[in-house]
Amino acid sequence: MEQTLRSIVENSRRLVFFGGAGVSTESGIPDFRSESGLYQTKHRYGYSPEEIISYSFFRREPETFYDFYKKNMIYTGAKPNPAHKTLALWEKQGILSAIITQNIDGLHQDAGSEKVFELHGSVRRNYCMDCHAFYPLEYIMDEENCRRGVPVCSKCGGMVKPDVVLYEEGLDGSVIDGAMKAISEADVMIVGGTSLVVYPAAGLAHGFRGDKLILINKGATSLDGRADLVVSRPIGEVLGELADLVPLYGIISG
Ligand code: ZN
Repeated sequence: MEQTLRSIVENSRRLVFFGGAGVSTESGIPDFRSESGLYQTKHRYGYSPEEIISYSFFRREPETFYDFYKKNMIYTGAKPNPAHKTLALWEKQGILSAIITQNIDGLHQDAGSEKVFELHGSVRRNYCMDCHAFYPLEYIMDEENCRRGVPVCSKCGGMVKPDVVLYEEGLDGSVIDGAMKAISEADVMIVGGTSLVVYPAAGLAHGFRGDKLILINKGATSLDGRADLVVSRPIGEVLGELADLVPLYGIISG
């Protein structure tokens, strides 16, 4: 079965990868939507993760929001795993045209990927809600820049918000457009580490009209019926085994 996956990727000219939380869990970043994440959050805060990371909650109780956010959504020690590394290599080899991710951790960029559409934003970017000055992750994690855990703009004193799409917020139009274009032009799409249940992001994946659709996920997904190949193994393991392939149509671009 993996031989088939190998030959599909080797023959691809314009592959896109669509990834979800499962790509990051293998780097030690737990999915806060998992059973245990949900239980622990309810127990500790009295709210579900979805309630806490909603825009109205952020405005109402920024201190609680940031307490949860910094403890559960920021993993500064996390490193790219073989899935991130193989995808970065494929981009350099000229066969991967884009990564579309639901993750906000920036690990694809750490691995060297450049064309990354971050549907839900990134913890690496933060901005002042008043003057729109941008700040790196290190700034908001430094308590010197915070009042009771809430980061404050050094220029105007406004509240700093992560450039992450919270519940109740819409996705960035230019990111959606870029992702849709990449998917519509792709000959192969690999969907990995996501059960494709989070909309509207998942709706994008359903727009694929290319040649081969491959799903790599430990559980069932909403696209299983349409897939040419379903691989039910950990994504890092599967993509890690393909780090040595030689693309037939790729161009080494340095
Ligand atoms: Zn400001």
